[in-house]
Amino acid sequence: MTKQSFNTKIVHNNISQQNVGQSKSTPIYQTSAFTFKDLDHVESYYTGDVPYLYSRENNPNTNELGQAVAQLEGAPAGVASSSGISAIMAGIFSVVEAGDHIVAAGDLYGGTQQLITKQLASFGIEYTIVDFSSGDAIKQAIQPNTKLLYTESITNPFLRVENIEQLVNIAKEHNLKTMVDNTFATPYLLQPYMQGVDIVAHSATKYIGGHSDVTSGVVVGHEDLINKANQKVVGLGTNLSPFEAWLTQRGLKTLALRMKQQSENANAVAGQLQQSEDIKHVFYPQNVSENGHGAIVTIELAHHVDVDTFFKSLDWIKIVPTLAGVETTVSYPIATSHRALTDEERQKLGINEFVVRISIGIEETQDIANQLLKAIQTAK
Ligand SMILES: *Cc1c(COP(=O)(O)O)cnc(C)c1O
Repeated sequence: MTKQSFNTKIVHNNISQQNVGQSKSTPIYQTSAFTFKDLDHVESYYTGDVPYLYSRENNPNTNELGQAVAQLEGAPAGVASSSGISAIMAGIFSVVEAGDHIVAAGDLYGGTQQLITKQLASFGIEYTIVDFSSGDAIKQAIQPNTKLLYTESITNPFLRVENIEQLVNIAKEHNLKTMVDNTFATPYLLQPYMQGVDIVAHSATKYIGGHSDVTSGVVVGHEDLINKANQKVVGLGTNLSPFEAWLTQRGLKTLALRMKQQSENANAVAGQLQQSEDIKHVFYPQNVSENGHGAIVTIELAHHVDVDTFFKSLDWIKIVPTLAGVETTVSYPIATSHRALTDEERQKLGINEFVVRISIGIEETQDIANQLLKAIQTAK
């Protein structure tokens, strides 16, 4: 080795920690690129003999997350990306290009609706939004340039459970691809790929990560489509950072325990809220899966309840414009998730100023119910 002066040593002091034994958890490969010993070694990346070159293209942590979610969904391939929205975009781009047409459900997550109607439309991708509870409405919206049917397995905020079988049948009849956002259900409750859906997307920011400490997304499906989705993630630069992939993967390990507890809590809390005369309607599905019905409960407060006072009267249940953490939280769709919609669009969906979405956590069931009921009592 040639002699190293201080300024050289300071950058080349990385004492090798290779071959230190098998670490129990996957190390974080917090690196933008990988090193090569000679030019043949560089070539071996392009022949597929060496897996890693540059972290925007692939990285052990992001690969681990994509594959882990794919396995849970029963799909052969998966890719992680920087957010749920970028995962959805990559999935859509794996099927459509400028001039193609998407038929999408009318009750999608607000950000996805904006993605389709504003961002993708500006790339020349056409769309029609229809009520997916009607198979006829879906069929009528199909055009000669339609390529994709897009929906969510459980919708937001009213928790409509999509008829996946009907969707897949319509797609087959018309030779279309299907894509389903499975964020609210997670593979613990539903596995749309196993029911014939081509592409399944997740905002891993929500239940997959589960701790509200990371923004990430995953899209899984057939190998050919996921290869294309991966090219979009790499080419558009929406890759996930190694550390965030690692955090998401750590959260994923407890998905089953969290979903089990949160679904049980949600079912019990929904039942108690149903008894309240100060709630006009409780939205909580009973037909999601054998493993439970999810952890979101949406309520429309009776119109004599002062909504502002209700939110102010909550104690450790915080107002948060997200969902799926281990803590119970509430959100106000009119002010956050569905803010970008027009009054008319909100009215059509049934979202008014009395609608509150509750993301049920892992706390003691009765503590959650008591706090919600007490706040409603204070606000009437
Ligand atoms: C949050 C969410 C998204 C968007 O995910 P981000 O991680 O915020 O980009 C998409 N779909 C659903 C159902 C969501 O709840």
